[in-house]
Amino acid sequence: MKSKVVHALILAALAGSAVAAECGPNTLGVERTITLKREGALYGAHQHTALPLKKGEVVLTFDDGPVPEYTPMVLKALADQCTKATFFMIGERLMQHPQLAKRVVGEGNSAGVHSYRHDHMAALGADEQLADLKKTQDIYRTTFGVSTPAYRFPFLEETPTLLAALKQANVTVASIDFGINDWLPDDTTEILVKRLTESLEKAGKGIILMHDANIPTAKALPALLKVLKDKGYKVVHLEWEN
Ligand SMILES: [Zn+2]
Repeated sequence: MKSKVVHALILAALAGSAVAAECGPNTLGVERTITLKREGALYGAHQHTALPLKKGEVVLTFDDGPVPEYTPMVLKALADQCTKATFFMIGERLMQHPQLAKRVVGEGNSAGVHSYRHDHMAALGADEQLADLKKTQDIYRTTFGVSTPAYRFPFLEETPTLLAALKQANVTVASIDFGINDWLPDDTTEILVKRLTESLEKAGKGIILMHDANIPTAKALPALLKVLKDKGYKVVHLEWEN
């Protein structure tokens, strides 16, 4: 019995070192993981309290997926750098691509939601907003087997109705610290690298908003992650208690 336990521990240690060796010292990696409580807190210096990050620490987030064309490119770029991100998924896309969504989380990333169809919530009535949230939460539970831990407002446009509902449901409201304005279809990798570099110089740390549903971002991500690595930034990964 005792030797079996020791054997298991050795195997576990070997498995751990094998992963570390695969990643290598020159990958971005994950510096540490913050596991947030389910208490309906609001984070992101753009609108709320900043996450407890040290200077040089960033959280990677991707919105508007999952989409079969580009999300796998983003996953590959993250895996190549042994790093992790949080994906804020559109309910309708989550419903259309459950296997891809599960792959996102299965590869060590975390997932929140980003409304059912990316409507301007303030343009909807209170009942419609709540129905949108409920529909999205139901799809999340069906897909992942747990309740929705985090929500990012479409366009970051918050409404009192949804803020109250999210608080009531202990869902984290995940705003951002800064983005790289990566929604224009013609942006080149050079432009996105320049925007990220400038934003990092200004903010020094924080939650970064990017879009896994956008081709320029998916294409540029290896270069963007290289910027982080070369400038000595450390990735902090977000998870939530179940
Ligand atoms: Zn969005």
